[in-house]
Amino acid sequence: MKKSIIFIEPRGGKTNVFDNYMKLPLMGSLYLGTILFNHGYQVQILNENVLAKEIDPFEINADIFCISSLTVNANRSKLLASQLKQIHPMSKIFIGGIHASLLPEEFIEVADHVIIGEAEEIILDIMEDKFKEKIIQGSRTKDLENLPKVNYSLLLGIQNMKLIPIMTSRGCPFDCNFCTVTKIFGKNFRMQSPKRIVEEIENTFRYFKKQTFFIYDDNFAANKERVNEFCDILIEKKININWVAQVRSDLARDPELIAKMASAGLKLVFIGFESISDETLKILHKSQTKSDIEKAIRTFHEYGVDIHGMFMFGEDNETAENISETAEFAIENKIDTIQFMIITPFPGTQFFDQIVKENRLFHKDWDYYNGMFIVFQTKNISPVKLLNSTYQAYKRFYSLRRTILDICIIIFDIFLDALVWNFERIKRYNLDILLIRAFSKKLVTKYSDVYSTYMQYLSEIEKE
Ligand code: SF4
Repeated sequence: MKKSIIFIEPRGGKTNVFDNYMKLPLMGSLYLGTILFNHGYQVQILNENVLAKEIDPFEINADIFCISSLTVNANRSKLLASQLKQIHPMSKIFIGGIHASLLPEEFIEVADHVIIGEAEEIILDIMEDKFKEKIIQGSRTKDLENLPKVNYSLLLGIQNMKLIPIMTSRGCPFDCNFCTVTKIFGKNFRMQSPKRIVEEIENTFRYFKKQTFFIYDDNFAANKERVNEFCDILIEKKININWVAQVRSDLARDPELIAKMASAGLKLVFIGFESISDETLKILHKSQTKSDIEKAIRTFHEYGVDIHGMFMFGEDNETAENISETAEFAIENKIDTIQFMIITPFPGTQFFDQIVKENRLFHKDWDYYNGMFIVFQTKNISPVKLLNSTYQAYKRFYSLRRTILDICIIIFDIFLDALVWNFERIKRYNLDILLIRAFSKKLVTKYSDVYSTYMQYLSEIEKE
């Protein structure tokens, strides 16, 4: 019988309040697991967020454990690896994932092998012990078209997932200085064909009843012809699904495509707006302007697509005023939901190299590298003020007053529609977004505990 393999995707540290709510697996383990399963291995994938509990190393056993390490869960990955080695000394431990790829030497002590980069093309050789070296160099999968259709049943707890994840491309032609995507997947945009994406979607119908998809691609619409054709096929084949994708604001330069995406079921876009300052956007190498952002908001809303806007604070010319202006901008422009992150120097990025070179890093406790904490010495604004202003901006956007006002508007709309017995505008009620806002408010409140402890730490640093 072939070896048994358990893939483990650990949750982030205790400081990561999003973990309990992001019940989504990584696609890497699903692809690797599917390849191995198709070759006769016994495979199980355990994602601690999807399972909503921490794995007890005493309760699992396998010939091989493969741990996926992101920066946010790097500490827990190491802990799990050493516990598993102690409890199951005969089992082999492999660690891969973004963080392990960028800082492989961090895991040498706790793993039998560390795998750098993508591994679909070498995973069978790895499992057959063909690599003797401690750090195994993976290779970028040349043809994503040839990847197997994902076997979601390998993942324990799929019934807990609200969205179905799919990944249709890798890499990004842009070069934002804070982003790890190009470091891991390259600048060359590799993609599946529109036909193949639709086949992947149809494949999921074997595993899920719900039909809302989260397209994980970091820049889904990097190739517009592909997206156009993908939408054509969905419409032609009458595949009635809802989907969510990550796109750039410059997609709004093609409103016809956005209209088609909306007709094909696009409901929500995640957009990295990052900043409303053109100067900061330039420093970040974001290749977009404030007017691109404004146009994107208008255009997506015009076609009924909701927007989750992601902003980032703490670049060298950041001020407290910029932060509160950004919150006002998000409110005035009616962005549906937002994330105000603090810029994090992730290992492997140009930004990390710059901060290290300038000796501005406070620490390398990866539990705090999740966009919610400031981990380096800022320039224009003190770290304490930055954290405080970000928290205030969150509170402003997700204020109870705004939520109550939104509910009143909805009740008023329903009342008006009922008067004329015409519920055509029912889409405008947008209860989903209201629920997400209420939920985000809860998160912000939860964030306040972790945040006040870290504030004390920052105050100590400032006193020194
Ligand atoms: S932030 Fe987005 S656009 Fe920029 S490099 Fe990363 S994936 Fe590409």
